[in-house]
Amino acid sequence: MNDQQLVILLNEMTLEEKIAQLQQLAANFYEGAESGGQITGPMEAMGITDDMIINSGSVLGLSGAEQVIAVQEAHLRKNRLGIPLLMMADIVHGFKTIFPVPLAIGCSWDLERTERSAEIAAKESAVSGVHVTFAPMADLVRDPRWGRVMESTGEDPYLNGLYARAFVRGFQGSDLKGDVNRMAACVKHFAAYGLSEGGRDYNTVDLSERHLREYYLPAYRAALDEGAEMVMTSFNTIEGIPVSGNVKLLRDLLRDEWGFDGVLISDWGAVKELIPHGVAEDEAEAALKTIRAGVDIEMMTACYVHQLPELVASGQVEISLIDEAVLRILQLKERLGLFENPLRGADPVAEREVVFCEEHRTAARELAAKSCVLLKNEQVLPLAPGQRIALIGPFAASGDILGPWSWTGSTEDAVKLDAAMKARAGVGQITVAEGSGIDTFSEELWLEAETAAQAAEVIVLALGERSEMSGEAGSRSDIRLPEAQRELLLRLKALDKPLVVVLFNGRPLDLSGVYDMADAVLEAWFPGSEGGAAITSLLYGDENPSGRLSMSFPVAVGQIPVYYNHFNTGRPLGAPDADARYVSQYLDIPNEPLLPFGYGLSYTTFDYSEPVLSGDKMTGDQPIQISVTITNTGAVAGEEVVQLYIRDISGEVVRPMKELKDFAKISLSPGESRELTFTLTEEQLRYYHSDLSFASDPGKFELFVGPNSRDAKARGFRLELAAVENKR
Ligand code: BGC
Repeated sequence: MNDQQLVILLNEMTLEEKIAQLQQLAANFYEGAESGGQITGPMEAMGITDDMIINSGSVLGLSGAEQVIAVQEAHLRKNRLGIPLLMMADIVHGFKTIFPVPLAIGCSWDLERTERSAEIAAKESAVSGVHVTFAPMADLVRDPRWGRVMESTGEDPYLNGLYARAFVRGFQGSDLKGDVNRMAACVKHFAAYGLSEGGRDYNTVDLSERHLREYYLPAYRAALDEGAEMVMTSFNTIEGIPVSGNVKLLRDLLRDEWGFDGVLISDWGAVKELIPHGVAEDEAEAALKTIRAGVDIEMMTACYVHQLPELVASGQVEISLIDEAVLRILQLKERLGLFENPLRGADPVAEREVVFCEEHRTAARELAAKSCVLLKNEQVLPLAPGQRIALIGPFAASGDILGPWSWTGSTEDAVKLDAAMKARAGVGQITVAEGSGIDTFSEELWLEAETAAQAAEVIVLALGERSEMSGEAGSRSDIRLPEAQRELLLRLKALDKPLVVVLFNGRPLDLSGVYDMADAVLEAWFPGSEGGAAITSLLYGDENPSGRLSMSFPVAVGQIPVYYNHFNTGRPLGAPDADARYVSQYLDIPNEPLLPFGYGLSYTTFDYSEPVLSGDKMTGDQPIQISVTITNTGAVAGEEVVQLYIRDISGEVVRPMKELKDFAKISLSPGESRELTFTLTEEQLRYYHSDLSFASDPGKFELFVGPNSRDAKARGFRLELAAVENKR
């Protein structure tokens, strides 16, 4: 249908039919009514009627080809105008084939594999009947107490933007209508949800508009520039106004300034939450504020269906607001081809062949291996094939390695570490013992672990967080491993054997009592369905670790937020004329994180030449080229992530100490050298000034090339702009 036909359709709809399109309910509400079931429980409590269900526009969390087909067909039989339903679901890091959690993917610095993971997730979802995924999450994160850092790709706005684009490309492809193996992407949570105060989920956010634009908005914007079809609002307030009712953010910025004309959905219950937030007295005021702000679909509360009819009748809400929202929803249905093909990709036969197939599992294993980060290695890894290993810990044989937001996956089907290590090294080489629970210690389990450890040459200790310890509502104030596991580690350490720790978790941890004790630490995150196999190949050196942290690991929780692209203070440490005491520091811990952004080890070593610049002056049309030669100086092949950062020495507003501007992931054989050339342009030096203009400043800059944000080699240059180029 073209736009004109959609408008004709819109004009045929009654007000009730229109408003019902704006309501989204979870699958269980819908199925009950469609199968002729009774209206019970939450539906009744929410006052949802059969008519509202029959006219509704979208469903949350329904998947499985047979089920989706049955619901869509039943719906079309009853829906007066034959308007198909949109099936939306959270497919965050895979459907049945579960990929590593996004924060782990963020550590791969591998955009191609990221895109492929989203393409596979889309294919499995599409054959199972899903049309829209609530992903990617493009929230910038700096506080690992917040459980949802696992859904983000990390603390850098530029890198997050690249990943957001890769996810959108993978989910949507280039022809959403024609390619039924793709699904529409809904970028979330707009905006700045990751800045929840104190790392407590759903909490207040307040920041300057300049800061918002410079650090928090770019990754959402990148997803939209890549064509993401939908946006989800966040739960938090900004400048004291809950985002779902925030006109400045949604209507002025997202719609008018950015020109976003896709569907905007509230997060779960966020419309009604205007009441407890304290900016609406009742459901009517909540509906009024959110429809005015531009929210098209209300998820899981029912203020719109109950209140909008009266608000329209009384003239408080103009019918044009409703019409615009409905038209956008109809347009999305059309862009997905649902009017002609309401079942789209849903296909029970294809579903059986495609879902969790070998090819997809291989891709998941490869990305999991690329996402693990070797944090420490005192010559214990890789393991030698004949070594007797005691594999100990609550994650040694656990299937809880998929991580949060893997509701469609199966922990039973996950490749566990013990099985993979036995398959690699031989059953007789690996003795497995649980050692402790995740947060409970028992002497009985300890005795078994001690016996296993005593008979072994190397201890591999699989520790971590249960999935519910991160993810939504998974905030923690103490982000060390639970005490029981630290106790287990302490006791094993006393046996004086080489000790390798493998970590399964959804956030950067405070590794006090772990990092110093272990001889090697491999951060595996929640690695997904093929996690055990990926980790095993790294432990035995079949593959070489190449992941690099996309979020800093703090020394202690008291440092948080700690991130690489911070500002300097007027009293920096080490300033020549500063009084030794009156500087910006903690008295008890260093300022620097334990492990910085960009950090990760390999089984080989890389040497960096001094960077050579094409000149020491940049102008508006004359970029600078930076050449550097990287050499693999070790004995095995490996991948290195070569990172380029800049610092603007004197800006109109304070500039970060370092900002990532480019990187290259390269693979080198032993002894091989490669010269890389980066190009840095004036455009990459632009930033938001105090008047919110986006421009560069002439003057002194530094650039840094290196293996991480801490150990990079610096060079200076100047930016010179003719008066006419200097737009400020
Ligand atoms: C989460 C969203 C999610 C939605 C639907 C909310 O609670 O914040 O990220 O997309 O639920 O499941």
